[in-house]
Amino acid sequence: SGKFFVGGNWKCNGTKDSISKLVTDLNGAKLEDDVDVVVAPPFVYIDQVKNSLTDRVEISGQNSWVGKGGAFTGEISAEQLVDIGCKWVILGHSERRHVIGEDDEFTGKKAAYALGQNLKVIACIGEKLEERESGKTFDVCFRQLKAFADYVTSWENVVIAYEPVWAIGTGKVASPQQAQEVHAAVRDWLQKTLSAEIASATRIIYGGSVNGSNCAELAKQEDIDGFLVGGASLKIMVLLLVLQGPEFATIVNSVV
Ligand code: 13P
Repeated sequence: SGKFFVGGNWKCNGTKDSISKLVTDLNGAKLEDDVDVVVAPPFVYIDQVKNSLTDRVEISGQNSWVGKGGAFTGEISAEQLVDIGCKWVILGHSERRHVIGEDDEFTGKKAAYALGQNLKVIACIGEKLEERESGKTFDVCFRQLKAFADYVTSWENVVIAYEPVWAIGTGKVASPQQAQEVHAAVRDWLQKTLSAEIASATRIIYGGSVNGSNCAELAKQEDIDGFLVGGASLKIMVLLLVLQGPEFATIVNSVV
């Protein structure tokens, strides 16, 4: 449901030179029309990307401060992201939650604040391996969703990213069935908790070891509306010894 959405989360990677090369490759790639395409560079390279990347691709921050800017050393505000040309921000990424220690409530408040500044939000949820193994996948995802829903009043500008922590950066992609099962449960939760309209209009994208080879099968699943791509968004794809261009373009073009 909704337009297919593919985001590239570059995380804390790149240099001016490597990003310049990646932008050139993306500018030269063919991207299917009927897809929202977004990249999230590290903050310090956003201006460079904004000034060199085709307008076809929108730009996202990887995080934003929970409120108005001020004396918050090291933080970047939603207003600043808007000022520099970002349309989106990723919030609640598992690395923010589990490496840096941000909790559900803080994440929910960030989402509400960013939406209030007219940023669109990629709201991330997902269970850790031990949570999946102890049968808590849905509990964890619903708890994280509820924390967003406690603060977010309009879902129009929200994309939900289901990113199981055990699949992120591990090469261990969720099977199409595993991902579909959670996506369907998330949609069902949206319908029961919010409304049928929100459930059908909100895009639910999958992240975690998505690449140019596994994206097509995942994209066929009924409730998978796109992807959030980490590692593969930085790579050039080689098939049969021929350079195919950015792997990210292959994933964008997996739209069905
Ligand atoms: P990988 O694609 O590297 O597993 O990362 C996924 C992710 O965290 C996107 O936000």
